[in-house]
Amino acid sequence: MSKLIIVSNRLPVTVAKQEEAFEYHKSLGGLATGLKSYHKKADSIWIGWPGIASNELKEEEKAGIEKKLESDHGCLPVFLSAEEKEKYYDGFCNNTLWPLFHYFTNKMEFKSDTWEAYKHVNEKFFRVLDEVMEENDQVWVHDYQLMLLPGMIRDKYPQAKIGFFLHIPFPSNEIFRLLIWRDEILEGVLGSDLIGFHTYDYVRHFLSSTRRLMGLSSHLNTVHYGNRNIRVDAFPMGIDYEKFYREYTDSEFIEDTKLVQDSKKDMKLILSVDRLDYTKGIPNRLEAFDAFLELYPEYVEKVKFILIVAPSRETVRSYEKLKRQVEELVGKINGKYSTSNWMPVWFYYKPFTQKTLIALYRNADVLLVTPLRDGMNLVAKEYAASRRDLEGMIVISETAGAASELGEAIHVNPRDNVAIARGLYKALEMPLEEKHTINKIFHQRLKRYSLDFWAKEFISSLQSHEKTPIIKEGVLNIGEDSDQLMKEYHQAEKRLILLDYDGTLVGFTSIPQRARPDQSLKDLLTTMGENPQNTLAIVSGRDRQTLEKWLGDLPLHLVASHGLWVKNYNEDWKSTVMLTHDWKPVVYEVMQMYSDRMPGSIIEEKDYSIALHYRKCDPDMVAEKMGEIKEALLTLVHAMSLGVLEGNKVLEVKDVRVNKGLAVAHLMRENSYDFILAAGDDVTDEDLFDALPSHAFSIKVGFGSTRAAYYVDDWRAIRSLLQKLKGS
Ligand code: UDP
Repeated sequence: MSKLIIVSNRLPVTVAKQEEAFEYHKSLGGLATGLKSYHKKADSIWIGWPGIASNELKEEEKAGIEKKLESDHGCLPVFLSAEEKEKYYDGFCNNTLWPLFHYFTNKMEFKSDTWEAYKHVNEKFFRVLDEVMEENDQVWVHDYQLMLLPGMIRDKYPQAKIGFFLHIPFPSNEIFRLLIWRDEILEGVLGSDLIGFHTYDYVRHFLSSTRRLMGLSSHLNTVHYGNRNIRVDAFPMGIDYEKFYREYTDSEFIEDTKLVQDSKKDMKLILSVDRLDYTKGIPNRLEAFDAFLELYPEYVEKVKFILIVAPSRETVRSYEKLKRQVEELVGKINGKYSTSNWMPVWFYYKPFTQKTLIALYRNADVLLVTPLRDGMNLVAKEYAASRRDLEGMIVISETAGAASELGEAIHVNPRDNVAIARGLYKALEMPLEEKHTINKIFHQRLKRYSLDFWAKEFISSLQSHEKTPIIKEGVLNIGEDSDQLMKEYHQAEKRLILLDYDGTLVGFTSIPQRARPDQSLKDLLTTMGENPQNTLAIVSGRDRQTLEKWLGDLPLHLVASHGLWVKNYNEDWKSTVMLTHDWKPVVYEVMQMYSDRMPGSIIEEKDYSIALHYRKCDPDMVAEKMGEIKEALLTLVHAMSLGVLEGNKVLEVKDVRVNKGLAVAHLMRENSYDFILAAGDDVTDEDLFDALPSHAFSIKVGFGSTRAAYYVDDWRAIRSLLQKLKGS
């Protein structure tokens, strides 16, 4: 039976050394608290760092911790030394990825040693996982600390179901592309079957990066990568609604509530709760509060702003600076407005328990949440859920993930002090009836899409995900019939093997001239071609000159220009069709007109066709223009023996009499074969498959609809199939 493995940077349990003993306590943070109950119910294994530096531990202590974490908490620790933690976590995670993904490019550093540490620690996580992993397990990897891990798992466990969830924003492509190691990061994440983000905006940004940086196409939130379908979708993380909504009657809670109410007296209470981080916009918020008191002096002595900042990343210098900046601003505002019996800002730099926060939430008239960028912001949701009386109001910045789910709250631009001040005023003045209506909507949504629901939704989407694209019914992977193939190959006296070149024997390159054959391919083709029982032909869309230069000295037949030219081994080129060329100038002119407006496109004129290549064009621009270009060309060639064909990032107007089927006809005329194998990846290879007799083995390389009887994943699979035939 398959099991679920959760992997996150931190375990839900933190280990600390006290004197000679070890203490185990709950880790803070939404992910740890949230997923813990799901972890318990699902009987999963949770892998992560236990929060203690391994160089402080003796081997037997590590073993003891490991045992206790496993037996009491279902956790497996990944031990990191202080140096590993510093370079990987403080370094690459928090000084490169965190600022980049939150659009703070000025705070971002690119250091190759921290990147190396990031790779190394991801590998370390993989090694711990590898010890318990079985082929059909499901793995749920969390967050920006482990973006390489899905790819590492995929390499070793192709059948595993792998989900990845990013808890921070995914930035727009223009920002993401600044990262030196962007390809490695994207490829790592694309090891997953399901990739989840908090909001649809982040989904869009991710898809745009895979499209623009890797040239991957996507359809209905599904990216096609290699031989896999990867689903990318929004799963907005919820909260433990009941915990915040519940009535609490214990003395501690009553005491907390009384303290808040006594200090509030008859004033309006404004609350904000954040970790200390530059993304949270705390200085901007204080300046906006200053603007609020300027703009609405009637609120002097009538409001109290409780600013809770939980310490975070205290070892990082820039955070220390931020703390000082916040203290100075608080001092400035209090100095400016305080009276003998009133102080506007109450700043607390310490963590509060969630229970105390609930007491505060329930008594705060307005929650002010103005992060400059925030993946989700759970505090906003917690506040809304805590308001059993439906009387609270939220002022939230439009750049917080939670804003899209709290659409009825007051949205502000976090850099616009006046807008925040006005928003605050609007929230304080909002009629009770309006607040009730809005809060009811919040409750309905938060109750339904709770944390548990979120986790279940993600896992059930992962379980039901179809990892490989649906191949047309009846088309088999050649591997399933390889015994039959081998048998027929051996029994045959005369064999014909027809192979497309680009995408079938070699991978695609951005510059077509770079796809020249490597030595191992040449050796393979030579051995196959030298076998007197074999007739081996390369059937390509490339021109005669290129094929002759690259493969002319091998014992093969060559078919160039999609069947127009055929060259038997040791003979000259012959054409298969008499061509006319009078249509070319007019088609060229129209294509030129479009090409001028599509930077990156190239026009290629061949004997029987004119092609517009757009592999290097902006994919969005292509999507927009392609319909119009096709329409114009179709109208133009209507009533001629010409066709408009779309290939892999190319649009071609060609003489339809020329197709790869001609090659089959030509070669079959010369001999009769009792074994025929043909392989190709492109739409032009479908003509080849069509022209084959029924006993032939036709193989589509890659996925997509085909008239071939079999398919393989990629060109590497064709090479290994040929190796097998050669060596048998
Ligand atoms: N939190 C807490 N005590 C504090 C401050 C915050 O328990 O003093 C909790 C808060 O209830 C919330 C989480 O920390 O669940 C913060 O999550 P959020 O998404 O708002 O911000 P993050 O810190 O993840 O960026």
